[in-house]
Amino acid sequence: MKKIIKDYYRIYSEVDKLVKEYDPCKIKNGTCSRGRMRHGKNFCCDPCKYLRNRGCTIKSIRCRAWLCHEIECRLKIQDPKGYAEFYNKRTDLLVEAGKKGFLVNKGGLTEILYPEKSGKW
Ligand code: SF4
Ligand code: SF4
Repeated sequence: MKKIIKDYYRIYSEVDKLVKEYDPCKIKNGTCSRGRMRHGKNFCCDPCKYLRNRGCTIKSIRCRAWLCHEIECRLKIQDPKGYAEFYNKRTDLLVEAGKKGFLVNKGGLTEILYPEKSGKW
């Protein structure tokens, strides 16, 4: 169990660092890039039981690595080299996470360790 937890948080930290460095969503004043483009709903989490006013309350590898279609398409065009580098590094981390069974849909360690307790969204 300790090894699973350690591995999970290590991969999460690496994904988190990669996303912070590349900064695909460009969050400013409570709005993400897609929110500004659409002048509508911000972010992509809702509805989720882990979403609070202060943001996400867990460390989810899948969510941290996930990007909406709009932003993936925009980055491919606006920054092909930077996006390809980000994409390849992210893919490596996701493959590793997938092999360890760490990729649950909208969830984190609780859903991985106790799938029977994960409940409804
Ligand atoms: S678990 Fe995922 S969908 Fe839910 S609040 Fe966190 S980042 Fe958003
Ligand atoms: S992935 Fe898309 S919708 Fe989600 S925060 Fe980033 S820009 Fe916004």
